[in-house]
Amino acid sequence: MELADGRLQGVVSSGSDIERVYVSSIGAGTHGFSCSTNNNRPCGGLHGSPCKHLRALVDEAVLQYGVHRVARYLRVDIDEDTASGAALVSRLNGSLAPTPAAMVFSRFLRHLAYLELPPSAEPIAELHWFPATGAVR
Ligand SMILES: [Zn+2]
Repeated sequence: MELADGRLQGVVSSGSDIERVYVSSIGAGTHGFSCSTNNNRPCGGLHGSPCKHLRALVDEAVLQYGVHRVARYLRVDIDEDTASGAALVSRLNGSLAPTPAAMVFSRFLRHLAYLELPPSAEPIAELHWFPATGAVR
């Protein structure tokens, strides 16, 4: 999750399927939002309003950066009563604005690949491929 490229964007894992992740983003200023799977399928939870992944993304951003910083970045008008991610989401006035998931996702691929590796001191099999192939030649 990051505030970058004029967006709040991040990868949110599905609650029901650990293999599936959603790429969610909200544009700064426009508040145009999008959510799709890493395979570029549109999120089924988007019905003209932010889905639970986008809400989770905003909640996470508020936890990490604080509600004022997130609101400032996205250019959301908040008042003193706005303290939570949910309150911030309710003040977004954007609409669905598809963002190429691959573009956002590629920024997180490295983190995901790292997180998927089991903690081990053994060499990573994947990395063995290249020297082994080279030796055959
Ligand atoms: Zn979603």
